[in-house]
Amino acid sequence: MHTHFTNFLLNIKELSVSEVQKVEADVWIQVQPTDRLQACPQCQGTEVIRKGCAYQRKVRHLSAFGCRVFLFLPAIRLMCKQCDVSFVWQYGCVAPGRRYTKQFEASLPRQVIGATVTHAAKQTQTPATTVERVFKQWMETESAHVQGTCQEQALNSSQLVLGIDDFAIRKGHTYNTGIHDLRGGTFLDIIPGRRLDELRAYDQVNPKWRDLQPAAVVMDLATGYHTFIKELYPSAIRIADRFHVNRYVTEALQVVRKRVEKELASRARHQLKQHHRILGKRADQLSEKENKLVSQFLQYSEVLRKVYEWKEAFITWYDCSASHSLAEKGYARWLEQGEQIEHFAVQNCLKTMKNWRKEICNYHHLRFTNAAVEGRNNKIKALQRRHYFTRNPKHYKQRILLECNEELLRC
Ligand SMILES: [Zn+2]
Repeated sequence: MHTHFTNFLLNIKELSVSEVQKVEADVWIQVQPTDRLQACPQCQGTEVIRKGCAYQRKVRHLSAFGCRVFLFLPAIRLMCKQCDVSFVWQYGCVAPGRRYTKQFEASLPRQVIGATVTHAAKQTQTPATTVERVFKQWMETESAHVQGTCQEQALNSSQLVLGIDDFAIRKGHTYNTGIHDLRGGTFLDIIPGRRLDELRAYDQVNPKWRDLQPAAVVMDLATGYHTFIKELYPSAIRIADRFHVNRYVTEALQVVRKRVEKELASRARHQLKQHHRILGKRADQLSEKENKLVSQFLQYSEVLRKVYEWKEAFITWYDCSASHSLAEKGYARWLEQGEQIEHFAVQNCLKTMKNWRKEICNYHHLRFTNAAVEGRNNKIKALQRRHYFTRNPKHYKQRILLECNEELLRC
């Protein structure tokens, strides 16, 4: 049989193909070591004799043409004349005692990322226990490598901007905190919990993030985060995340909307309730139909119209302030606009807006938001849905680091 091309395709230098067979749906490839002899593992000497072949090792290799591929490697017995030691031929492409080539094992983790072990096992026709063992081993080294790379990048970044945000493990039960490098686009670490004492405790045990010198840190309005960051990075600008802040304003708008609804005739009430979300949308992103509805709704109530305009003015302030000093002036005007609206929801919201005035205006120093962070949080949510079972904290963390830094993976 002509095996030249199979050798070429197999591309494992130490092996030479002697036969290829199709056995049911699988491809069986009989191979031999290219070399005649192998040096003694004890003395490295080459005074070695072959003593026949004990058996054939059947080893799974990368699939080809949609078929599983098995290599049949002879377990060649050898003896060293120097030290009188018997040994078996060691193949470089497969670890001793393993039933999968190193190339095959290295191809498995990619199948699990974005999916599950069970799915990868089915896809590759490999026992789930094998996939799991290989994956966990890989995860251990790869997550350390990925985190090291991210850390290095963050350390060397000029004008580093961090993002801090929480994500639920089980909604309403436990929360974790993610640290993100917003400029580098990476996920740096997970802190268990989100309370100040939890954050401090983590920093005590993991001081590695102290060396970072962020120019700014973006976060929501949780005082725990602000206090922690003030302690950890006293010179960093703290920026209130635009989308978290904006939510306070749209929530006030919706409270007003609910109040207005109560005083409407039933048809108008239902219509407003049904389409309440479009009030929260940016006016410049409304469709023609939505635009008409909004105009109609705003005629129902003077207060609703005022709040809506105030909400839109905030978006304009975010988008169009030309500099930080102009933004500060614009913010004062926007607060005044709010003062004119006599409604408890707006007045409550204004209290928050005044308390966080500095952090909100800081957005106009460095225009970063946690939008990318939200995307990763959704990814984590999907991951948790797939893995409702596993709660091994070490694996959990490694897995998230890998899934959220997918472009850094070496497989
Ligand atoms: Zn020897």
